[in-house]
Amino acid sequence: MRIDLHTHSRASDGTQSPAELVRAAVAEGLDVLALTDHDTAEGWAEAERTAREVGLELVRGMEISTLHRGRGVHLLAYLPDPTYPPLLAQLERVLEGRRSRVPVMLDRLRDLDIEISHEDVQRASGGTAATGRPHVADALVTLGRVADRTEAFDRYLGAGRPAHVDRYAAPLVEMIRLVTEAGGVSVVAHPWGRSTRQWPGERELAELKDLGLAGVEVDHQDHDAEARGLLRAIARRLDLVVTGSSDHHGTGKNDHELGVNTTSPEDYARLLELAAAAAARSDRPAPEVVRA
Ligand code: AMP
Ligand code: ZN
Ligand code: FE
Ligand code: FE
Repeated sequence: MRIDLHTHSRASDGTQSPAELVRAAVAEGLDVLALTDHDTAEGWAEAERTAREVGLELVRGMEISTLHRGRGVHLLAYLPDPTYPPLLAQLERVLEGRRSRVPVMLDRLRDLDIEISHEDVQRASGGTAATGRPHVADALVTLGRVADRTEAFDRYLGAGRPAHVDRYAAPLVEMIRLVTEAGGVSVVAHPWGRSTRQWPGERELAELKDLGLAGVEVDHQDHDAEARGLLRAIARRLDLVVTGSSDHHGTGKNDHELGVNTTSPEDYARLLELAAAAAARSDRPAPEVVRA
């Protein structure tokens, strides 16, 4: 069984449509794929149709932008009812933060004599609600100012770079609760991937587990072998589910090919058990896994 639990489509900042992504997963020999676009369930319906057509097991999820003690944390939410009003309201706030950030980024670029219009970004994003820096990066590529997304982040859009602009993120603790209430389960994405510090550490993860966190993504390209070893040991001590995944973005992110990291069948089964338990406790119609 090859199980990849973290991927992006054009519903956020991947470069494949949900249908293309599902077909690519089959071509890659995956048995289970989770679609986890940023802050939106927009791609779910198309992915579900294609998964039924081609016989791929599909987990519907999303990767939610959250904030915990002043730092950004990406939270993978699997199988929540995305229409649960308090969850939807938080996602709407994040998406509004994404929308309102774009013109500010374009102003900053204009200060650098780089002229990109809102329409250029829309063309790059295909009109997704989850507009992100990668779409602005794509517009910079089209304009010939940078070679690829990586160079766009390194020179302009990354933290500390001149066109970097902050945006709203949902409180992590509240989001874990809302995902549970919506009948889903939460996994912290690439917990140590974005800083050199090993944070959140064992104490923070233990607290989050008490609040309902189901697991941590250990095997991710942003974690080196040492980080993976330490995180895996913490997860085992805390009895958290361990996941591994590609964080595939189509051609939008180098070295994140489908299936480059995978989740064990045992951890996947536990994640689904926890989701089923949350769904049973919830009074929301949580989605189920689409079975092959
Ligand atoms: P945003 O959500 O708009 O703040 O943009 C963050 C997204 O940009 C994340 O999903 C990352 O996958 C992506 N990203 C960050 N750094 C890079 C990079 N160097 N190359 C390509 N994509 C990146
Ligand atoms: Zn992304
Ligand atoms: Fe992420
Ligand atoms: Fe991601």
